[in-house]
Amino acid sequence: MKRFALAGNPNSGKTTLFNSLTGATAHVGNWPGVTVDKREGTYRKLDEPIYIVDLPGIYSLSPYTPEEVISRNYVLDEKPDCVINIVDATNLERNLYLTTQILEIDVPVVVALNMSDVVRKNGDKIDAKALQEKLGVPVVEISALKQENLDELMQEAVKASNKERKGATIIEDKSLLHLISDVQIAFELKGIENPLFHAIKLVEMDELEVKMHPEAVETVNKFKATFKNDTFGSDFEALIADNRYEYIAKNYATAFEQASGLERKDTLTKSDKIDKVMTHRIWALPLFVVIMFLIFHVTFSEDILFLNRIFGLEITHEGWINFFTGMGYEGEPLGGIPSLGVWLQSWFGWLTGSLIDWVGSWMPAGQWYTSLVCDGILTGLDAVLSFVPQIMILFLFIAILEDSGYMARVAFILDRAFRKFGLSGKAFIPMLTGFGCSVPAIMATRTLEDEREKNRTIRLMTCFSCGAKAPIWALLAGIGAMAGFAGDIFVFTIYVGGIACAIIFALFMKLFSKDQYVSPFIMELPAYHLPQPRNVGAHLWEKFKHYLIKAGTIIAACTIVIWFLKSFGWEDGKFGLLLFEEANAEGEMEWVLHIDGSILAYLGKGLRYFFYPLGPLAGGWTNSTDGWKYVVSTLTGLIAKEDVVATMAELGLEEGTIGLSLAGAYSFAVYNLFTIPCFAAIGATHGEQKGKEFWLTLLWWFAMSYGFALLVYWVGALYEVAWWGGLLVTLALAGAVTGAGIVVSRRHKLALANN
Ligand code: GDP
Ligand code: MG
Repeated sequence: MKRFALAGNPNSGKTTLFNSLTGATAHVGNWPGVTVDKREGTYRKLDEPIYIVDLPGIYSLSPYTPEEVISRNYVLDEKPDCVINIVDATNLERNLYLTTQILEIDVPVVVALNMSDVVRKNGDKIDAKALQEKLGVPVVEISALKQENLDELMQEAVKASNKERKGATIIEDKSLLHLISDVQIAFELKGIENPLFHAIKLVEMDELEVKMHPEAVETVNKFKATFKNDTFGSDFEALIADNRYEYIAKNYATAFEQASGLERKDTLTKSDKIDKVMTHRIWALPLFVVIMFLIFHVTFSEDILFLNRIFGLEITHEGWINFFTGMGYEGEPLGGIPSLGVWLQSWFGWLTGSLIDWVGSWMPAGQWYTSLVCDGILTGLDAVLSFVPQIMILFLFIAILEDSGYMARVAFILDRAFRKFGLSGKAFIPMLTGFGCSVPAIMATRTLEDEREKNRTIRLMTCFSCGAKAPIWALLAGIGAMAGFAGDIFVFTIYVGGIACAIIFALFMKLFSKDQYVSPFIMELPAYHLPQPRNVGAHLWEKFKHYLIKAGTIIAACTIVIWFLKSFGWEDGKFGLLLFEEANAEGEMEWVLHIDGSILAYLGKGLRYFFYPLGPLAGGWTNSTDGWKYVVSTLTGLIAKEDVVATMAELGLEEGTIGLSLAGAYSFAVYNLFTIPCFAAIGATHGEQKGKEFWLTLLWWFAMSYGFALLVYWVGALYEVAWWGGLLVTLALAGAVTGAGIVVSRRHKLALANN
């Protein structure tokens, strides 16, 4: 079967094209060793089926990011039958930069000029013929979104794949060409494949190339010594890049025909108009906060639009109560109308709860295996899976924000706000990834050139609540203490508070370090697009699948271990299963687990001393007889964060039985948010940091979570005793942060002035 690879810039429409071509055959996996998505599928509309791979989005074939290395190695080593280079026609100049590099490889290439619908709508024209002549490979105008010309594109690609193609360069500088062809000939003589590509990369002193051909470096340097350029001196990488851009500027101008000024104006500025509001100098940040709040409101609120809180609406009709809260809840009036997320979650919880009861009714009571299945595996998994509807809604909104192009603006807005304090927005991009999962986020810090900035970013990663932590917030949002507060506000403060804390921590890291470097942040803001249901759907489906797989493997295994540890132990000096039949208050016989004598209880009670300061008063999480259960739950979270709620459920801590006060709930949440993430994230960190830095990161995570939970708990407790005392401490802390901000921003200004 023929194999075609899609290569192009991020946001050029690769995934859209891939989905249009492969339809339902798509399979998403990972590239070996990294968590960059690998999409594969089959195109079946021609006589022969064609296998298609969607390469990660890249701006060039340099070796600076994992995406670039993956794409480059795929084309060089796996030798696809044709590379379809997808080019965003509305951004031709930037996109062709990559094209000029792909052309240097000995592989058939077809250029797909995507977004031609937008070009048309703008009234612009692109002369594809002229471009084709200049580039020397077929150029096909398509619209991946509107599915225009896709079959033509594939036919061209098949035609191209039947012929061999030698790499060609567009570099025109005579002496530079001379140098390159000398190296190329040397490579050809040695029988190296893709001699042109490797020669150019070697002249650029590309890291990977130097490693691969150390013996050739000497020769190249000798050639280079005879070479002189006034502008770039001996920076050959810059010189070659300049040559490429020069070529593009020259030939692009003749192929691109802009509509006359008047016609063009309004269509072009639609995105700019939206940006006038969305990235407004003053309003952008508040707007972001409001958008975030609305998302959490719709997902976690038990009182939509605060109809109950503010307008006193109370639902008392039993039919409606059942509709909003799931079957089986009856009687009490309902405080307002629950949000979509809460509504779905109640029904889903009712469904899975009934399922467990049903399974239990078929199994003999009091047997160890009944207990293992019902009180162990099913209870634990139910606790995790019952939050799936809410978490999917949350991710739906995040996916919409991402696909529309708004998330890119968020990084831009945050950068603008915090550059003054010497914090760069470049680090915010991996951090925003961290809202999904810390593992790819930590890997993405590789794109930060400054080592210190990279270390800092990894350490602050846990401030960004990943998807696996969401069940904890969803659980706490429903507990009794939230009745006098609001579950949605609670979750909102965890997310936004996390971002705020990251900024505050970064500020203090700056305060105590001499380093004033701020890496530049250049980012192309993609035009706003209407989010595509297909993209968003695929994204959600991935999340869902990932969640299910994790629940079926790691988390299921953990529930079994926890079940064993909680069910076996000592009673009257004898070791064994702690399940006993006893009479309850009404005199009925019941099976009861004497959990207090279990192995887990002994372990947890010992460990509780260590966490004791984080919540020792009434309503604190280390306080009561349940204290050890919370402690054990946070520890199982080290394996995977979903384990926290699974373990809590197995130990009997569910929405109705969690007796935490607001301060207790916040302390518990803050501890779990900031602490050492899961094993997978620790592994990813170990891949990025070696030796001392790695251990420092673990220590930092632990110290940050312990210290901040301590602070939150005691300030919260102070509010509960004397609100003015709490307020005073809060103001003092705010003052300290402001002071640190002023000092750092002054220093930053000075450093800038001295440069
Ligand atoms: P990738 O990063 O290269 O995978 O790009 P995507 O496939 O995610 O596309 C980025 C955005 O461009 C999405 O919002 C798409 O809907 C949009 N898009 C892709 N192709 C076209 C097209 O031909 N026309 C228009 N108008 N939009 C497109
Ligand atoms: Mg993509």
